[in-house]
Parts: sequence; structure tokens; C-alpha cells
Amino acid sequence: MTTRDAHEAVLHIDWTRCDGRGVCTELLPDTLTRDEWGYPLARRAGNDLVIDGHDARRAHDAVRLCPRMALRIK
Ligand code: SF4
Repeated sequence: MTTRDAHEAVLHIDWTRCDGRGVCTELLPDTLTRDEWGYPLARRAGNDLVIDGHDARRAHDAVRLCPRMALRIK
């Protein structure tokens, strides 16, 4: 079992909703990049997108602003 820092969040992308509009990649450039079709890709390996430090606030903004409601914080 791993422990998570209190200031970390895990961002989950619902791929059935995402249409690659890129709001999340613009808000979280240290965590996400875009593939050739514009869909978000994790910069680090792994299924969980761990967001830390100052980016936690941006992750919440991405959840709120995603036009497809495809994001949530776990
Ligand atoms: S903001 Fe939402 S719809 Fe746009 S790329 Fe990110 S998850 Fe997909």
C-alpha cells in the first residue's frame, strides 16, 4: 500500500467522454501533453495522474472547466 501526500490529488479521465479539446492539457502542462489527435497523455508512466503541489488547484479548475465533464479527482 502506498501513502499519498495530503497535498496530492489523483486525476481520472473518463475516456468515453473526452473529445480532446485540450483544456486540461493547457492547465496542467507539467502533467499532461497531447497526442496527435489532441487527446491528453500522461507525461509520466502509470494510469493514475498524480497531481502535486500548486497543480492540485489547477486540477480542480480542469475538472470544473472540462467541457465534456470527463475529469474527476479521486
Ligand atoms: S478538458 Fe476534458 S474533454 Fe478536454 S481533453 Fe481534457 S478531459 Fe478531454
